[in-house]
Amino acid sequence: MLTTAPRGTKDILPSEIENWRYVEAAMRRICAQFGYKEIRTPVFEHTELFKRGIGDTTDVVEKEMYTFTDRGERSITLRPENTASAVRAFCEHKMYAEPAPTKLFYIGPMFRYDRPQAGRYRQFHQFGIEALGVDSPAIDAEAILLAVTILKELGLKDLHLKINSVGCSKCRPQHRAKLQDYFRPHLEGMCNDCKSRFERNPLRLLDCKVPHDHELAAGAPSLEECLCDECREHFEGVKRLLTAAGVDFEVDNTLVRGLDYYTKTAFEIQYVPLGAQSAVCGGGRYDGLVKEIGGQDVSGIGFAMGMERILLALESQNLLPEHKDGIDAFIVCPNQANFEAAFKTAIALRQAGLKTEFDFLARSMKAQMKQAGRLNARFAVIFGDDELARGAVTLKNMAESTQTEIPVDDTVTILQTEVQKYE
Ligand code: ATP
Ligand code: MG
Repeated sequence: MLTTAPRGTKDILPSEIENWRYVEAAMRRICAQFGYKEIRTPVFEHTELFKRGIGDTTDVVEKEMYTFTDRGERSITLRPENTASAVRAFCEHKMYAEPAPTKLFYIGPMFRYDRPQAGRYRQFHQFGIEALGVDSPAIDAEAILLAVTILKELGLKDLHLKINSVGCSKCRPQHRAKLQDYFRPHLEGMCNDCKSRFERNPLRLLDCKVPHDHELAAGAPSLEECLCDECREHFEGVKRLLTAAGVDFEVDNTLVRGLDYYTKTAFEIQYVPLGAQSAVCGGGRYDGLVKEIGGQDVSGIGFAMGMERILLALESQNLLPEHKDGIDAFIVCPNQANFEAAFKTAIALRQAGLKTEFDFLARSMKAQMKQAGRLNARFAVIFGDDELARGAVTLKNMAESTQTEIPVDDTVTILQTEVQKYE
């Protein structure tokens, strides 16, 4: 128990870190191209923020939050997503006072009491963006394009982009009534979540994962017929710009973000070969959210991507670059009497910027050479008794198996030059 991480969490080991950094670097690079700036918000917030910001008829809020009372009797929740926090920060720091849009991105851990399986964890990581203060469909198209660009840059093919419009507070009531008329005769046979959401938020019935209810949802009246002129025009604008950008998409009328503050555009990107956990990115517009959490009437759009799912996808397609980590020099010092001299040289090499290691365990010459090989050292610097008596050390090029004697005092300058030849 004490030597096992909690269920649904996992360590990211040194051997995996380069993969994470590689993916994150692509995200940061493309965010810079698109003008998005990084924000880092706290890992926990007041519970109320998520209840308002995600909505209390959602699975996340009803079943998945890590909520606790802190020692000051406050209800605190580990963030299950980052949009609510980003919007909170937007209000708190009066970012609306700057010229719109405010374009933010984040990368970090999120927490949900999900059922752990491949691609689904209780602590997982999301990369995401938020763009606030612009109503134009151009920002929706830009957000979607940013997501697609990152996934393509990483080399992922077989991406499936689905988009929809969920309307707004003007056109949704009409759809809501139609949905209730459609589901009412079937309600008896539906799951308890659906029953309880039927009155509160029937749009969420379209999102049910229970197979029977899911099939039923496929035949439900589509929102598209109910869209008001403004929402229809906005949706057409998004589609037109995506087409102009050469992005393939499918309109899926069952794709929802079922809360009143989510409006107009909703989208999801699936990486089909991932199977059950194929959603790598989800997002949409939230024109009522800033106001809902107490800010001004400012519109927004954003998305989040699951880092673990992207890494799984890249791994399965062999799209992760090979990382050769190695060091510049390993100091081999078989006689402990010479250790101090070897130690000082190691420090000097590191100060000169060279990746340097040495032996801590008084191992034999042979074992130290083996360690140098294991660490992928470019050079071994051997502090042997005989050479040292002459004021020298042996410099061995590990790959070429050649060696020369050099003055111990010149070790740093010579190694610097030698290492540069390989860069
Ligand atoms: P799902 O239907 O798979 O539960 P979701 O609708 O809950 O997804 P969002 O809230 O839209 O997911 O989050 C955006 C992305 O974050 C998802 O597309 C997915 O890639 C990732 N994600 C969500 N929950 C998890 C989790 N428990 N573990 C790993 N990744 C996750
Ligand atoms: Mg979920």
